[in-house]
Amino acid sequence: MTARVEVDLDAFARNLHHIRTTVAPAQHLLVVKDDAYGHGLPAIVRRAADEGVAWFGTFDVATAVAVRQTVGAGCRILAWTVYNDADIEAAQDADIELGIGDAPLLSDVASRARERGACARVHLKIDTGLHRNGFRPEDWAAAVAGARDAAAAGALRIEGVWSHIAEASDAEDDTARTAFIDAAGAFDGPVLRHLAASAASFARPEFRFDLVRIGAFAYGIRPEGGPSDADLGIEPIATLTAEVIELRGGEARVDAGSLDGLDSRLAGRLLVGTPGGPRRLEAVAATSARVAAWPGAHVGDRVDLIGRGAPSTATDVAELLGTIGEEVVLRFSPRLARRYR
Ligand SMILES: *Cc1c(COP(=O)(O)O)cnc(C)c1O
Repeated sequence: MTARVEVDLDAFARNLHHIRTTVAPAQHLLVVKDDAYGHGLPAIVRRAADEGVAWFGTFDVATAVAVRQTVGAGCRILAWTVYNDADIEAAQDADIELGIGDAPLLSDVASRARERGACARVHLKIDTGLHRNGFRPEDWAAAVAGARDAAAAGALRIEGVWSHIAEASDAEDDTARTAFIDAAGAFDGPVLRHLAASAASFARPEFRFDLVRIGAFAYGIRPEGGPSDADLGIEPIATLTAEVIELRGGEARVDAGSLDGLDSRLAGRLLVGTPGGPRRLEAVAATSARVAAWPGAHVGDRVDLIGRGAPSTATDVAELLGTIGEEVVLRFSPRLARRYR
């Protein structure tokens, strides 16, 4: 099998530096959920730490613990989904900070910490309209009071207040931001405030607060229908690539198909990168695809299908398919090797 995902870690580093200078003085928390958006967690986390990224964010505690094992003690890690008591304990043991958005979980985390003589580090999440987890505004005062009681007893430290926004309409985001500022006003002491992901972090400085949680732009994935990579100053870092395995009837058969992450609906609609220049993707089968051949084509020639170096980025492909760039990259099959340059 020659299909693979190549990841250019130097391009990744350039994206990280561009993010850092764009959002400063806010800090960048690098989101590494979903195996670092399919790019492979360990290599991404290691390089990010080398480049000075000091914050990582994951959905689940297991991934957060894996990040801790990879980078050691020198960074902060936030996980925002907690499934059970084992997660709570693992987070306390590995110094993982937890994003908490409901009262039963908050009290579980505090009581677990008390029983174990530990101190849980939490970021309280206010629901600012997305209704994806988070304390409702009417419950916020009670949540803050509960967390303060636990903090006074030494079982908890309130590290941050945060929310997540849709980044789909400026008007909705503005409403969310107002609710967020309201909620953060409940704290007089120093808590980190974080609200924005990639799009708002770049487009709307007033959304940056102390920390921004950015995944997509770090991997060079622009928003669909939005500004270009060049306008944003980011570059794609991953390429779905494979070799020619057969030449027949004016077509080259390439060693990657729909099971590898090349959507069959792209047949007839996508240009791919070949040694002879861009060529049309003619058909996609489960494990191979056919591409219009070029003069001097050989078995073993490299064909760049999607991403860095190919005619179409993940988001270009997403725009053809009516989805988002993240999904195109996440469909690059986990069974494909990730190669780093
Ligand atoms: C995925 C995610 C992000 C990052 O979003 P991008 O658009 O990829 O930058 C930020 N915050 C939360 C809570 C997320 O789940």
